[in-house]
Amino acid sequence: MIDGRGWRTGAPVEKREIPMYYLKITAYAEDLLDALGHMSGWPERVRAMQANWIGKSVGVRLGFPYDIGPPGADGTRVLHAFTTRADTLMGVTFCAVAAEHPLAAYAARDNAKLAAFIEECKRGPAIESELATQEKKGVPTGLVVRHPISGAAVPVWVGNYVLMSYGDGAVMGVPAHDERDFEFAKKYHLPIKPVIDVAGREYSSSEWAPWYADHGRCVNSGVYDGLEFQAAVDAIAADLNRLGLGEKQTTWRLRDWGISRQRYWGCPIPVIHCGTCGTVPVPDEQLPVVLPVDLVPDGSGNPLLKDEAFLAVPCPRCGVKARRETDTMDTFVDSSWYFLRFACPDSDKAMVDSRVQYWLPADQYIGGIEHAILHLLYSRFWTRVMRELGLVAFKEPFTNMFTQGMVLNDVFFRKADTGRVEYFNPADVEVTLDATAQRRIAVLRSDGEEVESGGVVTMSKSKNNGVDPQALVDQFGADTARLFTMFAAPPEQTLEWSDEGVQGAYRFIKRLWKAVHDHVTLGAPGLLDKSALSDGQRNIRRQAHQTLAKITDDIGRRRTFNTAIAAAMELLNALAKIPQSSRQISPQDGSVMQEALEIAVLGLSPIIPHVTHALWLALGHRTALIDEPWMPVDAAALQSSSIAMVVQVNGKLRGHITVAAGADEGTVRSAALALPHAQKFIGTSAVRKVIIVPGKLVNIVV
Ligand SMILES: [Zn+2]
Repeated sequence: MIDGRGWRTGAPVEKREIPMYYLKITAYAEDLLDALGHMSGWPERVRAMQANWIGKSVGVRLGFPYDIGPPGADGTRVLHAFTTRADTLMGVTFCAVAAEHPLAAYAARDNAKLAAFIEECKRGPAIESELATQEKKGVPTGLVVRHPISGAAVPVWVGNYVLMSYGDGAVMGVPAHDERDFEFAKKYHLPIKPVIDVAGREYSSSEWAPWYADHGRCVNSGVYDGLEFQAAVDAIAADLNRLGLGEKQTTWRLRDWGISRQRYWGCPIPVIHCGTCGTVPVPDEQLPVVLPVDLVPDGSGNPLLKDEAFLAVPCPRCGVKARRETDTMDTFVDSSWYFLRFACPDSDKAMVDSRVQYWLPADQYIGGIEHAILHLLYSRFWTRVMRELGLVAFKEPFTNMFTQGMVLNDVFFRKADTGRVEYFNPADVEVTLDATAQRRIAVLRSDGEEVESGGVVTMSKSKNNGVDPQALVDQFGADTARLFTMFAAPPEQTLEWSDEGVQGAYRFIKRLWKAVHDHVTLGAPGLLDKSALSDGQRNIRRQAHQTLAKITDDIGRRRTFNTAIAAAMELLNALAKIPQSSRQISPQDGSVMQEALEIAVLGLSPIIPHVTHALWLALGHRTALIDEPWMPVDAAALQSSSIAMVVQVNGKLRGHITVAAGADEGTVRSAALALPHAQKFIGTSAVRKVIIVPGKLVNIVV
């Protein structure tokens, strides 16, 4: 929804009450929340977002009695509201109800201004985040309720920021200690009564300060004066309880999941409506309900509503003519369990079979942060339900979660007078600078007319700013396209699309290709003799195995493919510095080079599989690289030929020496004693003892 209109058609959006089907996810709220604490394989951010969405709050549901107005659903004349700040109850100066609240409708019967405001609210934002930022507006109902403790008259307003779907559709207004209520009270000149003292700070009702909402001690609150937050909540809840006007309550932000969609193409909701029997589930033996495939949507609503052949069905219970449900399911229903079906795609008796127990839960889930809440929460709920039905034995569908960064690209569009927005793919738009080189001009290639630029945003189908990698594949090959995208950024970070890196990726692949073939033309290398290596050969082997260790860790554990690629590039740079002539001299040089190139080729094979497959065969192997096991790191090769040791005099650090690996004690001792900085602290004193911790430190005791 953009500016109150549907983004696709430009039609104005309004709120309407319609019958819907719901899945009772709220029954699982506590378990879904508690389990988040144990899901160590999930990013903290995703867990926090889910916890927030589930939104557990512990507080008090309180009642404000009234004499004039219709009774509530429980038959009493009490306005109910939930608060997490019962300690501020004595600071209530008004109550606000949602536009859909029965008291609002009652008061609007002879109040045209209020009735108009209620209509305006219905056209307002339907999304909570927009509700929070919109301008707070209200109209008094003329009705009053009584404060549950003091009995004072409290005016009732209709507020556009009160949600009927949250709690009881009413809130108590404590402008002194709630920013939203403060804003509302200032606008409509309602009293502001501070009742919490925060560490003796000076309260001023002229301007809001964030600390006004902090916990503190009750003041101006009669018998509750002096009580701290929890004591005040306990005392006030106990008193309300005695009066029959309140009790402690846990509320959840999570709502039941509305799965009804008023559209043709979706998974049918298997329900039949009978004039006599009411709502009847389609019997198992008649499942699945199959949609007609020949209806053409004409823009006037769900075409199923006009298809008699689909609609007319005998009632499964009494046999008289009945009507099929035409709503179809939210697509999130299907995405809540598709991954289970991968384990047993040919199972024709049930959704899943026993194979699901072998393959699932998924070891690693990779998905965008935009799915942190809905899809990933619905899947966790759905898996729990499947478990209760005995279909799976686990509760959590995904053991490890990785949220990859978004890819951003330019957005180009035109907006019609009707409000309809049409987006154009950046590949179809030519961007040039105007004559003064000050302004970018974007022109649609097909008609030569200008299009508007909407900045750089996340690639999406709705904005039509995705890039089809086929063009890259056609020009440079699939491996270049893969290397370029993997190298552009760490996978969890946002990436701004640019074609410039493509050439670099292509050049690197060509260099790798040339390095392998230059080596191969020198003939087959001999067997590597690790016991007879020169210092130079040992250095090459060390760098090659360090690279292998880094790639193994980067790809296998850290999932930082870009740094794995960078390591392979560095290795290739180092190998390029070795003069080719040296390889012709010694067969051992050839076998060291062979090993280093194999490591580069193998290490890059998950990223550029086609090129590395060909290079592996070129290196003399008979089996395909994809059938080779991952190469183990040679720990001996990692060992440096020289090591650095700490030198201490009387236990204090005085410097470092570098000695050959495996040097004997005498050599280490003389090197340490010869260190000028150590000599300065030894001075003329006699050396009493030299303690050597091999490979680590030398302590000279004087
Ligand atoms: Zn019936």
